[in-house]
Amino acid sequence: MGNIAFVHGNVIPMDVRKRYTAVLALDGKIAAVGNDQEIKEAAKKAGIPVKDLKGATVLPGFHDCHAHLSLTGFDAQGINMYDAKDIPEVIERLKEADASWDQDRWLYGMRIDEGLLAEKRPPTMEELDVIGRPVFISDRGGHYVLVNRLAYDALGIDDDLEGVRKDESGRLTGRLQDKANKEARNRFPRTRQEFYEAMKWTGEEALRKGITTIHAQEGFTKDDPAVELLLEHEEDFPVDLVIYWCYMPEADDPLAKKMGILGGDILLDGSIGSRTAAFFDPYCDGDGCGYLNYTYEEARDFVESGIVRDLAMSFHVIGQKGISTALDIYEEVMGKHPEKKDTARLRLEHFGWPDQRDIDRAAQMGVRISTQPPFTYLRGGPESIYRSRLGEDREKAGYPLRLMLDAGLCVGGGSDSDITPLDALLGIHAAVNQPYPENSVTPYEAVRMYTSEGARCGWEDDYKGKLKPGMQADMVILEEDPLTVNPQTIKDIKVLGTVRKGDLVYENGI
Ligand SMILES: [Zn+2]
Repeated sequence: MGNIAFVHGNVIPMDVRKRYTAVLALDGKIAAVGNDQEIKEAAKKAGIPVKDLKGATVLPGFHDCHAHLSLTGFDAQGINMYDAKDIPEVIERLKEADASWDQDRWLYGMRIDEGLLAEKRPPTMEELDVIGRPVFISDRGGHYVLVNRLAYDALGIDDDLEGVRKDESGRLTGRLQDKANKEARNRFPRTRQEFYEAMKWTGEEALRKGITTIHAQEGFTKDDPAVELLLEHEEDFPVDLVIYWCYMPEADDPLAKKMGILGGDILLDGSIGSRTAAFFDPYCDGDGCGYLNYTYEEARDFVESGIVRDLAMSFHVIGQKGISTALDIYEEVMGKHPEKKDTARLRLEHFGWPDQRDIDRAAQMGVRISTQPPFTYLRGGPESIYRSRLGEDREKAGYPLRLMLDAGLCVGGGSDSDITPLDALLGIHAAVNQPYPENSVTPYEAVRMYTSEGARCGWEDDYKGKLKPGMQADMVILEEDPLTVNPQTIKDIKVLGTVRKGDLVYENGI
């Protein structure tokens, strides 16, 4: 809990449309915003030195409403496959790492995207067997892994487990998805210390981007230690956390009780990339409409068990059917428990393809939305996989931010890091510069998604997300003002510093 005073700044409180030039924080909280003279006097009285911002912009610290800390940290240490142009290049990168990494480490590759490889398929187990140690490659969305024979044997996965892919002749392809994907990730040899270090790295990286709160999406299996580790370290973690468990525990699980949250990035449906996001209409370039990973009854009983215990609920939903089903469930459970109407905390992750009826239903029930503007900014448009899989009309209707805000939905912004970079300014930029202008929002609205509405999205708006007296003193200092700069350059604005609870925890030229 620190004290800090800034003058000669461009302080945007995100509370009223007013601006100030100075701000004072005492004991980790905003004590005052005002003009230079007022703050200088108040700082002098409190014995705090003032820092001259020379015109830099101050905003509330950013919230990333959906990020995977462990995946991001592991990926930062891994071999990047995202921009590999073909399979020989993937193999080449593995060989380079093989020559330099410690002998006892598995080669960990990440962010492979088969759609971007010339062959339009991932490398096979046989192709990966040219490497003489275990190879483990994660896809960009976390939906499958690729392994060579050494890794497969060491993981001890049963050949008949769901998701162990085989070719027509029954040979293993090395691709593990569904249950096998989860198991493989779970069994990857890593100590608890390595696990925690990876998440802590992500927390520190967040501060470099001006992010002071992360809605962490962790623990995709029962044995994944991430949630437990984060709860242990909540006090000394580099950023504030709202921890969402991406697994369905028993409703009385003590960890869920401690978090006050039961649901999270639990995959009610899947992703566009793997044609598993659930729609009412089929994909344009393959069979089927995607599918739900849980029955309606399973998901409903899970939601009800959380609501009656006053635990916050959320699901990962992307396709229209996934969204619609989640809202049907929320409606049924809330209809059964009208006594929870004012206290239930309902939220949904992603919310990619809602129709107008579902947007309105969500708004009416007060369901808060945690979405990711960089998805369509980085991966949408006429040339994209969204277009080829969904067709023009559906592709253009994806992530309709404008409609969501116009309906009065609370929309928090996030990265889904490591799926898109952990970078709130990129997120703000993306919300303003969508591939189709009708889906874009104004810079002010976009900043709100990552500050005041971000805080609301985690039910923290009573003490975070705005710069006003009494609020937690989390601030980001930017070289330029995202509200007035050329909107096409928002993502290039430099973060000069980050303040968390009144302490300057990151300094980069102020
Ligand atoms: Zn998700």
